[in-house]
Amino acid sequence: MKISKILEDKTPTISFEVFPPKAETGLEDVKTAAGAIAALGPSYMSVTYGAAGSTSKLTIEVASGIKNLHGVPVMPHLTCVASTKEHVANMIRQIRENNIDNVMALRGDPPKDGIICNDYIHASDLIKDIRSQDADICIGGACYPEGHIECAHKADDIRYLKEKVDAGCDFLTTQMFFDNNIFYNFLYRIKDAGINVPVVPGIMPITTAKQLSRSVQLSGTSVPERFKAIVDRFGEDPVSMRQAGIIYASEQIIDLIANGITHIHVYSMNKPDVASDILYNLKGIIN
Ligand code: FAD
Repeated sequence: MKISKILEDKTPTISFEVFPPKAETGLEDVKTAAGAIAALGPSYMSVTYGAAGSTSKLTIEVASGIKNLHGVPVMPHLTCVASTKEHVANMIRQIRENNIDNVMALRGDPPKDGIICNDYIHASDLIKDIRSQDADICIGGACYPEGHIECAHKADDIRYLKEKVDAGCDFLTTQMFFDNNIFYNFLYRIKDAGINVPVVPGIMPITTAKQLSRSVQLSGTSVPERFKAIVDRFGEDPVSMRQAGIIYASEQIIDLIANGITHIHVYSMNKPDVASDILYNLKGIIN
């Protein structure tokens, strides 16, 4: 099922993200975690993609299990920074051969070995290419409520985002954020820029202090004082930090739904227990 179709639903839904293992050896554990998350009944699931393309086979394999064994609509990610056009065409063929109707098209971050491929420069180039190969596949793209870390001016970032959407993107998913007002403000700004596709907020439940510093370092996401106080107080105590992080993410989701946002994507990081606790907190709000 196409995610663009799911996003037409007027009742609130939650979707979850998983990531593939770095090597084949971890595949069974990830499949088990993905199966447990699928059993919670999300509206769809996404499966990330390694920057260098090394895990591309594993991304497809995990995604295929979610769709074909567990019956949950799925969206594998695909990055182009180190990909040739031939590799992308091959990936799209495999996605379709596995009965999958969606792909998240990304530039990706330059790989650590520094080897990039110049077949695509920006995600918009990838989106155009995928669209030219497959008129019907549902294509998602990434967006950044606080601006992408490499882009000095938010106005430019939104201008490029409009180009990305015009290239054939059906919906957007945001980078994580911890302050919903930043997201609401972003929605106004992109609407002004003529971007009218659905925007799904991405919420990251932070369950350890280390996870917060790593995520913030990579993404440049700002941390509100209220959340800093939580990490200062509970960061050293794993049980309390986990509980406080899950409640913080649940409250963000409740506030989003209260403000008319219907579909929320949760970066569940292969943790069925975290996904399940969030859904428990939303019992009665999400059916
Ligand atoms: P782009 O849209 O190409 O943007 C990258 C930068 O280029 C931005 O600063 C933008 O302003 C600028 N830009 C765009 N177009 C132009 C133009 N025409 N001229 C000049 N500048 C331009 N990474 C992974 O490796 N694997 C994943 O699975 C993955 N999943 C993600 C999912 C989501 C929802 C998000 C938000 C990010 C994800 N990422 C993933 C990270 C992402 O790959 C990085 O943030 C990457 O640096 C940018 O990718 P993009 O697709 O947003 O790139």
